[in-house]
Amino acid sequence: MSKIQKTQQGILPGIIAILLIIIVVLFFLLVFQSPSIQKSSVQKVSASAAQSKNGTATLLAGQNIYEWTLVTTWPKNFPGLGAAPENLARMLKEMSNGRLNIKVHGAGQLVPALGVFGAVSTGSAQMGHSAAYYWRGKMPASVFFTAVPFGMNAQEFNGWLHHGGGLALWRELYAEHNLIPFAAGNTGVQMGGWFNKEINSIADVQGLKMRIPGIGGDVFTRAGGTAVNIPGGELYTSLQSGVIDATEWVGPYNDLAFGFHQIAKHYYYPGWHEPGPALELIVNQEAYESLPQDLQKMIEVAARAVNQDMLDEYTARSQGALKELVTKHQVDIRPFPNDVLKAFADMSQQVYGELSEKDATFKAVYQHYREYLESVRGYHMFSEQAYFEARDEAQALLPTF
Ligand code: CA
Repeated sequence: MSKIQKTQQGILPGIIAILLIIIVVLFFLLVFQSPSIQKSSVQKVSASAAQSKNGTATLLAGQNIYEWTLVTTWPKNFPGLGAAPENLARMLKEMSNGRLNIKVHGAGQLVPALGVFGAVSTGSAQMGHSAAYYWRGKMPASVFFTAVPFGMNAQEFNGWLHHGGGLALWRELYAEHNLIPFAAGNTGVQMGGWFNKEINSIADVQGLKMRIPGIGGDVFTRAGGTAVNIPGGELYTSLQSGVIDATEWVGPYNDLAFGFHQIAKHYYYPGWHEPGPALELIVNQEAYESLPQDLQKMIEVAARAVNQDMLDEYTARSQGALKELVTKHQVDIRPFPNDVLKAFADMSQQVYGELSEKDATFKAVYQHYREYLESVRGYHMFSEQAYFEARDEAQALLPTF
């Protein structure tokens, strides 16, 4: 046996002994460390479960549970429009695993229908669901973030908003009111409204009192009528009792539910005044900034989902509702004559011009909106619009009722 072999034989047991000691030490470290890590996590979660009953509580290290209030312009459980804020709240609760809980209050429960803006601006509610054009008294340019006569449809508007610079203008407009706006629902092109009198020429508008909001209302007044803005919940009785002669509301899905066909003869189309109205989610700026980034992102994504989902739902439901109105309730559905639409279009341009002179912000937003509209309209002549026409004409398709 060589000296080297002898030395190796002497070292080997020592190495084995050291390795054994290391293994034993590691084993003890693992045994004593891991229960303490698990125990710590369980305690945190357990502590949060007890505290969460009082509102804000620690769920995990650095995570809070937020209990928020959302006020709406729509009555609680209002068909269609009222479903959007409920869907938003449910979606956010699920996405955040219960860290962002939003209680939805209908019109009049905490604040009146049109008190939403003030409540969220001052922070008495963290969120609101409404429509931007209701605030045109404060900010004339807000109309562009709902719908304007002969303006963009829903698809075009969403393109302008999310990829054409529109949202940045909207945020800028609301910033001084301490609000962050998001699009959160769209009805698609609306109907022209319910009339008992036939509209055969623009002269037939003379003396007519109609519920028609936004710039459409200004145009209607310019045409010799009287525009009034009545909340949705009061429309049926107003039309029935003769307080108003005509009303627009939304489209077949919502209008059928309201029962306007029982008290009005003619259902006119198209909704030249509201070609794709967007609803808004407004969030108090400080409340939004107090949220961790992941919850902020969830609000953005949920609003976007609700925005598209409402349009999808209205597309799916309005067709059946229109068919029911015509076939079951024998509603007289008719288009506005071309010269009436042309008169409304000309007057719309006059109103845009006058409002631009009065308010520099209106002028700036209108210019931006107008440029995008011109561009997208030029494209849609060769895409969406051309396809609709081709589909029907190539197959000689007629209405389905
Ligand atoms: Ca409407």
